[in-house]
Amino acid sequence: MARFTLPRDIYYGRGTLEVLETIKGKRAIVVVGGGSMKRFGFLDKVVDHLKKAGMEVRLFENVEPDPSVETVMRGAEAMREFQPDWIVAMGGGSPIDAAKAMWAFYEYPETTFEDLITPFNFPELRQKAHFLAIPSTSGTATEVTAFSVITDYAKGIKYPLADFNITPDIAIVDPELAETMPQKLTAHTGMDALTHAIEAYVSTMNSPFTDPLALKAIQMVLEYLPASYDGDKNAREQMHYAQCLAGMAFSNALLGIVHSMAHKTGAAFSTGHIPHGCANAIYLPYVIQYNAKNPEAQARYAAIARSVGLEGKTDAELTQALCDKIDEFNVKLNIPKTLRDFGIDEKEFNEKIASISELAVGDACTGSNPRPITPAEMERLFHCVYYGEKVNF
Ligand code: FE
Repeated sequence: MARFTLPRDIYYGRGTLEVLETIKGKRAIVVVGGGSMKRFGFLDKVVDHLKKAGMEVRLFENVEPDPSVETVMRGAEAMREFQPDWIVAMGGGSPIDAAKAMWAFYEYPETTFEDLITPFNFPELRQKAHFLAIPSTSGTATEVTAFSVITDYAKGIKYPLADFNITPDIAIVDPELAETMPQKLTAHTGMDALTHAIEAYVSTMNSPFTDPLALKAIQMVLEYLPASYDGDKNAREQMHYAQCLAGMAFSNALLGIVHSMAHKTGAAFSTGHIPHGCANAIYLPYVIQYNAKNPEAQARYAAIARSVGLEGKTDAELTQALCDKIDEFNVKLNIPKTLRDFGIDEKEFNEKIASISELAVGDACTGSNPRPITPAEMERLFHCVYYGEKVNF
């Protein structure tokens, strides 16, 4: 049995925060990050609107980037004390992801991360609270997805949580919040959204329900990301919607090895963190070349190329045109072409890449990739990404 799950309501457009005044409940806890939502006045607006809805409001602030197990436990504790019937998570991916996990531990204090990491094995949520998400970046789409990533720093592992129970009830997609994104973040989150849509479209889990969302998202990113990067307000708005459409697609169709590779290299090198969207943008054209050796996957890439007006007589030519387009975007957005250009040390790369490749193959996103991959093939693929070589195996 296949399933397609989205939030019950998605409110979108400028000034949509106002809809909070119509939410029915007694107590709302607002989960938020490190300060930009407060600085730009959005946190105050949210609190005011919730109070006008007649709710008692409490804040849980300062959720860190890549939220920790400890933060989740503290948040769940705060919820058990306050007993909210609404959890309102606002900001980038991190506070919303953290709030999703807090929600599970609020309703089921006896559960453990070990229980929750089995995909689609959550206990039944909504016994105590409903969940509303307000994104401030245009990329992760966690406001509409069934996913959350929590980091256990003591054990050095990430817990990817996946279950339709944590798909929010309501998403408020207000582009005013995304207008404050710095340029680099706009580039990285935009390419993350493009990767979500392309991986969802070629995923082994693709479906007639997810395909139109993925294709529309790809068209919109290609149309609006460059101007959004340059600060155009209308383009920013369209990107905020495009990333949400991409999220609706990949929450149901899952992803592929671009994400497997990004997950396992993000924090792997001593030269510094590789931002998630930047890693995806670098890996995407190489992975397309790898996956396109599967004729069915190649036909799907060709369909994407055709749908955005790229030219080519054969599926191979169309797939190449798509890769060229992504390369062109990466140049425009100041994203390097190789891991060497990103600044990863060659010696460290060669020392670590075998174990990273093993981990990447074991990532939760590998299962839905359209072409299987072994650790040895993954290592060859990373080699191509490091040196900027063509993938011809
Ligand atoms: Fe992503």
